[in-house]
Order: sequence, then C-alpha cells, then structure tokens
Amino acid sequence: MPVIESSEHTSLRQAVASFAKNHPRTPGTDHKQFWQEAAELGYIGVNLPEAYGGGGGGITELCLVLEEMGAAGSPLLMMIVSPAICGTVISRFGTEAQKRQWLPALADGSRLMAFGITEPDAGSNSHRITTTARRETDSGDWILTGRKVFVSGVDIADATLVVGRTEDARTGRLKPCLFIVPRDTEGFRRRPIDMELNATEKQFELVLDDVRLPADALVGDEDAGLLQLFAGLNPERIMTAAFAIGMGRYALARAVAYARERTVWDTPIGAHQAIAHPLAQAHIDLELARLMMQKAAHLYDAGDDTGAGEAANMAKYAAAEACVKAVDQAVHTLGGNGLTREFGLASLITAARVSRIAPVSREMILNYVSHQTLGLPKSY
Ligand SMILES: Cc1cc2nc3c(=O)[nH]c(=O)nc-3n(C[C@H](O)[C@H](O)[C@H](O)COP(=O)(O)OP(=O)(O)OC[C@H]3O[C@@H](n4cnc5c(N)ncnc54)[C@H](O)[C@@H]3O)c2cc1C
Repeated sequence: MPVIESSEHTSLRQAVASFAKNHPRTPGTDHKQFWQEAAELGYIGVNLPEAYGGGGGGITELCLVLEEMGAAGSPLLMMIVSPAICGTVISRFGTEAQKRQWLPALADGSRLMAFGITEPDAGSNSHRITTTARRETDSGDWILTGRKVFVSGVDIADATLVVGRTEDARTGRLKPCLFIVPRDTEGFRRRPIDMELNATEKQFELVLDDVRLPADALVGDEDAGLLQLFAGLNPERIMTAAFAIGMGRYALARAVAYARERTVWDTPIGAHQAIAHPLAQAHIDLELARLMMQKAAHLYDAGDDTGAGEAANMAKYAAAEACVKAVDQAVHTLGGNGLTREFGLASLITAARVSRIAPVSREMILNYVSHQTLGLPKSY
C-alpha cells in the first residue's frame, strides 16, 4: 500500500478542491445541478466500472473526492450512498440488466439512489429488522412490507435500495436481501423527519405497505445475505470517514485563519498555546484518521473484505472523533463569532455528531473491536 499518495491522486485531489471552492454550496444551492456538474467531471462515478460509464477507480478515489469537497465546505452526503453503497452493490452483485439500467446513470449523475436499512425498532441491531419480502407464487413478484427511519435523500433519489429479509428468514440470524424500490412505487410512502441539521439532504421515515415489485427488483442472491450487504456497508463506513475528515479540515482551516488574524492583546490569539495546541492536535488526529481511511479503502479495493471491515470501522471511529473535536475547537477559537450564523461554524457542531452516530455508532464500533479484534466476551 503506497503511504505517500500517487501523483494521479494528488492531481485528482487538487482538481476536486478547486471545483468545490468555485462552487460553494449554501442551503439555497441547487443540489441537482451541483451533483450533475460534479458527475460530468467524473467525480461521482469515479469508483464505478469503466464498462458502465464510470471512472474505473475504487473507493480510494471516491473517498478522496468526498474528503476534498468537504474540506472546501461543500460535502455531498449522497455520495456515501449512491455511488458508494448502491453503485458498489449493483456492480458486484447485480444482473447484467441491472448494471446497464443503473450504473451509467449513477455515474453521469442523471440518477441517484438512496439506501434504507435502519428501522425504528431495530436501530443499531440490524439483525432485528422486520421489513419482510414475500414472493408471490403466481406472478413471481415480491411484496415488501415494513418501516424504515432516517433514510437520507429519498426525495431526490430515483429509487431506494431497501434492505429486507425473506419471509422464511423472518426469525433467527439476519439473512438480508436487497431490493430496488423506485421512488413513486405504489405503497412506498415517505415522511420527512424534522432534523436539527442545516443540510440540503433530508432524512425520511418510510412506510412500505404491500409494495409490489417485479422479480428483477431483487439485487443479487436472496441467500447470499450478509456478504452482499457488507460489500456496501464497508464503503459506507469509509466514505463516512471521508465526510468527517473533510468537515474537520474545513472547520480547522477556518479556525486557523481566524487565529492568525484576531488580536486582543499584543499578538494574534493563535500565538497563545491554549489556542494553538488544540488546533495542532486536531490536525494530527485528522491526519491519523485519514491514514486509517486510506488503509481501509486500499484493502477494500484489493478485494480483502474481511481486512477492510475492521479497518473501515476503525477509520470511521477515528475520523468521527477527530471531526467532533476539530469542530468543537474551531467554534471555541472564534469566541462569540463561533456561534454566529455569519461565520457558519456553529451548525457544524450538530453535523459533526452525525458521523459519530451514523451509519454505525461509536459504541457499536468499540463493541466490534472488543469482540472481533480483541476477543473479549459480549454483554448483549
Ligand atoms: C443524519 C442521518 C442520516 C442517516 N442516513 C441514513 C440512511 O441514509 N439510511 C439508513 O438506513 N439509515 C440512516 N441513518 C440512521 C443511522 O444509521 C442510525 O441512526 C444509526 O445506525 C443508529 O441507530 P439508532 O439511531 O436507532 O440508535 P440506537 O440503536 O437506538 O442507539 C442509541 C444509542 O445507544 C447505543 N447503543 C445501542 N446498542 C448498544 C450496545 N450494544 N452497546 C453500547 N451502546 C449501544 C448507541 O451507540 C447509541 O449511542 C441516518 C442517521 C442520521 C442521524
């Protein structure tokens, strides 16, 4: 694994940074147009196979793109979902027809896909999900019933990749199966959740009330279960790390610029170690998290799903913690201005917490490392 970035990656980083800097995203920005422009430059589909209109890269390149967009203050949350989870699962397990139908459109930005796994009564325990798929014997259609919560971007997505379980697998360990549910399918209802987040992408509660889907809505094998699901969940964790590192870098850069200028005694506040050292620590933590993210992406792209699983969890954990701390310190560095709308940092306090909770919480990662890596017994 190259520890120092290749010149191609550095050039991609610079190109994305300059694109994002020239296209600042404010709450009024047209999400679709921004997404489309980024896609036309090859950024959104950089990980998807060339044969289907993608850039032929991997999660390594995709997380680099998201990190740079975030560092410029214009992160695209749906990149974690549409190309990273849905694009990956369809490229790895979809039929030829599904690949042709979805991948070129996901890559060129003309279509977008959301991802729904979280359920109100299951939460972090996804083994408990109850969204159930029943196959109708005569027609071969699938009938999906259940509820999802906190699903991002369902309104702007053309379809949602919904995680369910088959009727005969309703009890026991989770055998997930994945369905593409087009946005306007009958019985597929959404209600926006009122979040304290200053973001363009909204979260939704979903109700699937006897949603009828054709046989080919199923992606992959109904018995391949967890393997297929984790093919999408590991990229999701790596991309959430990128989201967090980008946001942390953005906040830190704003704080450093402020600390260099703001003078209330004889020197700028950045000369006081009480201000400088926490900013230096935040920088170190973000750099360390990025190394783990690069390791996870490298393992994933090399086809080592097991190794990538552990690294993706650790990267997501490290990046979220680094982001929360960086944002907190950035707000503090600006004093009263840290809490004004004008400087725009206070809303990041809530946004940074998202990466600590989703897609898998800090505690569930600590559980994973305790049990899987350290071999400690389970409390639950
Ligand atoms: C902004 C945002 C966007 C999201 N987007 C999506 C999306 O697009 N698609 C989707 O499917 N979901 C999405 N989610 C949902 C997200 O993945 C869940 O919120 C997350 O998995 C946690 O589940 P929960 O909220 O039910 O918390 P719970 O599972 O109820 O957990 C609550 C608290 O208890 C702790 N806890 C639970 N179990 C244990 C344990 N065994 N040991 C120690 N602590 C424990 C958790 O760490 C957490 O702190 C999103 C969430 C947010 C906030």
